[in-house]
Amino acid sequence: MFAMTVSTWLEDHSTIDTLMDLPLPIAVVHRSGSVDLVNRRFSSEMDAEALTPEVIAKLSARDVPSNVSLPNANGDGEAVAAFVVPLGDRLMLILENGDRAVQMLEERLREMERLSTKDRLTNAWNRTHLERMVESETARAARYRESLSQILLDVDHFKRINDGFGHAVGDLVLKELVSRVQDALRLTDSLYRWGGEEFVVLAPETDADGAAVVAERLREAVAAEPFPVVGTVTVSLGVAEYLPEASREDWFDRCDRAMYRAKSGGRDRVVVDPLRPESRPAAGSTPRTRPLVELAWDSDFASGHPVIDGEHRRLFDLANRVLAEALASHSEPDRLASAVSALVTEVERHFRHEEQILEQCAFPGLQGHRNAHRALLRRAREVEAAVRSGPVAVATLVEFLAQDLVLRHMLTADRQFFGLVRNC
Ligand code: GH3
Ligand code: MG
Ligand code: MG
Repeated sequence: MFAMTVSTWLEDHSTIDTLMDLPLPIAVVHRSGSVDLVNRRFSSEMDAEALTPEVIAKLSARDVPSNVSLPNANGDGEAVAAFVVPLGDRLMLILENGDRAVQMLEERLREMERLSTKDRLTNAWNRTHLERMVESETARAARYRESLSQILLDVDHFKRINDGFGHAVGDLVLKELVSRVQDALRLTDSLYRWGGEEFVVLAPETDADGAAVVAERLREAVAAEPFPVVGTVTVSLGVAEYLPEASREDWFDRCDRAMYRAKSGGRDRVVVDPLRPESRPAAGSTPRTRPLVELAWDSDFASGHPVIDGEHRRLFDLANRVLAEALASHSEPDRLASAVSALVTEVERHFRHEEQILEQCAFPGLQGHRNAHRALLRRAREVEAAVRSGPVAVATLVEFLAQDLVLRHMLTADRQFFGLVRNC
């Protein structure tokens, strides 16, 4: 266990460098006889001169981590207890009891693993980094209403490659695969090793159809040319678009299920999950049903004046857009704010026209009506500012739209001039 984890880790020179500050006396020697690295603690306990080519040659016979005795540099015969860890061409010597040395090395390696963002074998981003990126990308997609897709890629019959050619060749296949996929990816997309022979691609600002194109390009990049040693390798891919109204787990599950459909459908293919965000139904799906709450225009609301009636109808439509946005199950603050602004702009324009018309028709209640318009517009501006600065209760919007603007104004106050404008 130790030999597997620590030795593969430590073959990477930069990892060894970062271990030299551990509170352990450590030296790294080359099997050919040279001393590569000695930390301060090692020097204070033992003269590195004692690590002669003959001593190193003896240690080199070890091919598993083991406790050894080193001769003292003074040549007084006193042996120094040490622990030796073979690392490919090199050996790590630690002047400490093996159990304690292993414990400290493993703790440090686990900590480094936690902090690292790259997968050591393939150099793709690792799963820890994926988890961080999923969190920030989904938050961004929801906030800015941008699409975001995920592609899950699993190597087909990878076990056969390992069984037929050995684990080391399997590792080389994974490296070659990552290199092909990276070359075929767009700069904005990123590749993560999920684990084993499974990888995830995050594609920001990409809907399911766009991600399907990316996935197909990746499939082709892997399958097109045979791999060294093992020949043709294929992958199965699942694609799913993020739905802001559902959880991240659900997103991953849909992607996973799509990938399994690609496997059961014969492998070497792409399957796209059919779900799309609520605000953008999949092409060819049934049109959206009518919203639950909306202002319904009735011919009884008509004043008989074509300009006023046309504008009143338009205000109904704009108010319904606000209601639809406010009642949508997922929050879309920017869309709601722009729907409210469109309504307020139109209300203002309409009030101006209406006042001109009422003036032309010598409507006796004009001043009172002007005052009512002003108060309503003030309230509309308040609602608009509130929506722009943060979430506003749906009830507030409904109250303003349905009661103040429509019922109290159009259907009560405006009715006072209906008879007049019809004939003027
Ligand atoms: P399928 O087409 O259904 O995906 O078949 P498969 O053989 O690819 O699926 P399975 O999940 O049964 O096998 C995956 C194998 O990948 C098993 C595991 O030993 C191997 N594996 C996982 N990680 C590594 C690795 O880092 N290196 C190597 N060489 N093999 C690995
Ligand atoms: Mg697998
Ligand atoms: Mg597989």
